[in-house]
Amino acid sequence: MGKMNEAVTKVAAPGMEAEPIADDAPVTAVDLLHGSILYLDGITVSFDGFRALNDLSLVIERGELRCIIGPNGAGKSTMMDVVTGKTRPDVGQAYFDRQSDLLKMSETEIVRAGIGRKFQKPTVFEKLPVRVNLELAMRANKGVWATLMVRLNGEQRDRIDSVLATIGLIDCRHQHAGVLSHGQKQWLEIGMLLMQEPQLMLIDEPAAGMTHQEVERTAELLVSLAGERSVVVVEHDMDFVRSIARRVTVLHEGRVLAEGSMDAVQNDPKVIEVYLGS
Ligand code: ADP
Ligand code: MG
Repeated sequence: MGKMNEAVTKVAAPGMEAEPIADDAPVTAVDLLHGSILYLDGITVSFDGFRALNDLSLVIERGELRCIIGPNGAGKSTMMDVVTGKTRPDVGQAYFDRQSDLLKMSETEIVRAGIGRKFQKPTVFEKLPVRVNLELAMRANKGVWATLMVRLNGEQRDRIDSVLATIGLIDCRHQHAGVLSHGQKQWLEIGMLLMQEPQLMLIDEPAAGMTHQEVERTAELLVSLAGERSVVVVEHDMDFVRSIARRVTVLHEGRVLAEGSMDAVQNDPKVIEVYLGS
């Protein structure tokens, strides 16, 4: 049993004799973590005997904006692969919104349940207008033809306009996505993710390759997205993390090395040794 369950046991029985929570009652354990949108406990992923994740436990609260940092190979992408169902762990527990057992769900089911992931490289439809990119994302199951042929209702138009405003691309809405700057393409892809109204967004290195000004606007965008939904950002750019971070988790060798405010983790000798000092 992983560390997180021990913590749960303590919460469950304050001042009482600690009853370990049975392995066959994971939902009860998860229910005790009232606000959590994502709960990972004791996750291990091995590739040919090498542990990319090694007893990883991580809890993200509803509405939180969490930054995950860590050196190359720490397991950040593998963690996202587990959450999205791309990679299955050898052992561990993974719950979304307290009741959905991610390890029993397909990748499609996980998306439908409300977890959206943005990969590092933007994958917008370059030959289509910005607005149509958002329409396509909203009706991902209908295909390009239906999207172009079927008129939107007022509510759908309002949603697209609202997302265009959120991502700062109203003035570009009729331009082909291909002419956007790299930063604008990243925002468009975040917008496409938003069209699916995810409760939890996983975003991999959003600031990579952006200009200084774009990085600042991306920070503002991500801060504005949290609260209504939960956002997990993996990022290497320390200034960026500092500018948005509430709570920072440092991964190292497949597990959590440190967690806390940016100041706390940056001054943690363990972190300085393995990451920031290197
Ligand atoms: P990060 O995203 O933090 O840089 P990753 O999660 O991509 O780290 O990788 C963690 C470790 O697992 C690395 O050592 C990587 O080489 C290894 N790894 C990741 N995916 C695979 C795979 N499919 N097969 C073998 N090794 C892998
Ligand atoms: Mg990675």
